[in-house]
Amino acid sequence: MFTRHRQLLLFSVAIFLLSEYTPPPSSAAAHPREPAPITRFRSYLKINTAHPNPDYTTAVKYLTAIASTIPTLRIKIIYLTTLEKPLLLLTLAGSDPSLPAVLFNSHLDSVPVESSKWLHDPFGAHLSPEDGKIYARGAQDDKCIGMQYLEAIKELKGNLDFSPLRTVHVSYVPDEEIGGFDGMAKFVESEEFKELNIGFVMDEGQASPSDEFRVFYADRTPWHMVIKANGLPGHGSRMYENCAMENMMKSIEVITKFRDSQFDLVKAGLAANSEVISVNPVFLKAGTPSPTGFVMNMQPSEVEAGFDIRLPPTADPDLLMRRITEEWAPAWRNMTYEITKKGVLRDYLGRPLLTPTNDSNPWWSVFEQAIAKAGGKLTKPEILASTTDARFMRQRGIPTLGFSPMKNTPILLHDHNEFLKDSVYLDGIKVYKHIIKSLSSFNGTSSSY
Ligand SMILES: [Zn+2]
Repeated sequence: MFTRHRQLLLFSVAIFLLSEYTPPPSSAAAHPREPAPITRFRSYLKINTAHPNPDYTTAVKYLTAIASTIPTLRIKIIYLTTLEKPLLLLTLAGSDPSLPAVLFNSHLDSVPVESSKWLHDPFGAHLSPEDGKIYARGAQDDKCIGMQYLEAIKELKGNLDFSPLRTVHVSYVPDEEIGGFDGMAKFVESEEFKELNIGFVMDEGQASPSDEFRVFYADRTPWHMVIKANGLPGHGSRMYENCAMENMMKSIEVITKFRDSQFDLVKAGLAANSEVISVNPVFLKAGTPSPTGFVMNMQPSEVEAGFDIRLPPTADPDLLMRRITEEWAPAWRNMTYEITKKGVLRDYLGRPLLTPTNDSNPWWSVFEQAIAKAGGKLTKPEILASTTDARFMRQRGIPTLGFSPMKNTPILLHDHNEFLKDSVYLDGIKVYKHIIKSLSSFNGTSSSY
């Protein structure tokens, strides 16, 4: 069974590579003086890889067509689940394959759009002639970096006959926007990944409204908690101890106090939003339904509430569990709880899921110097408020930074009218040339951080 499956996959890969890429119909023709990297970026943006039906096949074909024009760049398509979810891996072999390699990752997919709320077709990649803004879903998150990696390598190979010391891999993975379970999560578990011997990863970051680039050394981890209060039902007129609603309200009071304590730190400027534990109520389920709404003279016997919790990597998961069992949903108050989603907070060695941004991590210094060489400045390293595929690498103990070179740009990921300016995009290619060159020629020890 396995062999037949494997044969089918190899056969499909062959068909895939033989069939030529046909560019999607263009809604805005390239300007005669439009730089070729901008035209290529816009063509990538026109491929609709938004959920729920991302066209991964066309996207991978397009990237493969460009990659095949770069000398010595190896192309591999890996199917971790189905043929509809390819993962593209490009490799530039280093002169010393015994050294850990560097991986540049981006995801192929994007979130859905509400087309009617956009100024331009979200898959038309409209380039505004007056200000150079390119409007498209994925312009910031994260098709920009996927193409910039490729353009940077193309330029390095073309102009300078660049030959790296360490091997450089570039991966394009499916499904990041829906959790990464059929994408990066499976890839890091695969034999192919282990064989790559990855020492350091660059993944996506976020736009920076200031003149400095942002860099992310950790993601916050999501937990979803549902708490349930039980109690005796009773007439709406009666006051008695331990009814379900009363028990739930006491819990909500305690949770609200904790939420305030965290939010106060943010309001006082003592911590960033992503550095505290956020606990936000997302649903409340109570009451006895009636044809016109709810029965008003009855106190219900069950009440449920759901919370979205986000933990920074420094949070102690055991301490939070104690809070939940002893204060937020204590059994003595007839409460139960369920953690319906429990993101991982520690790597395989029990260390917090973060990449050090100091001298203890030699990769950090190399990255920082590369940004300086590119004439750029970095803001204070941050924790990303949401999650990305970077967590899967950090769980394996591989240092990973989130970085997308977009300065003087409003943060528009997942928003209507997502755009990136052509000049910002082109600058990003230059920045990656420095980063790729510096990281791949780093000859120091990198086994630990
Ligand atoms: Zn993203």
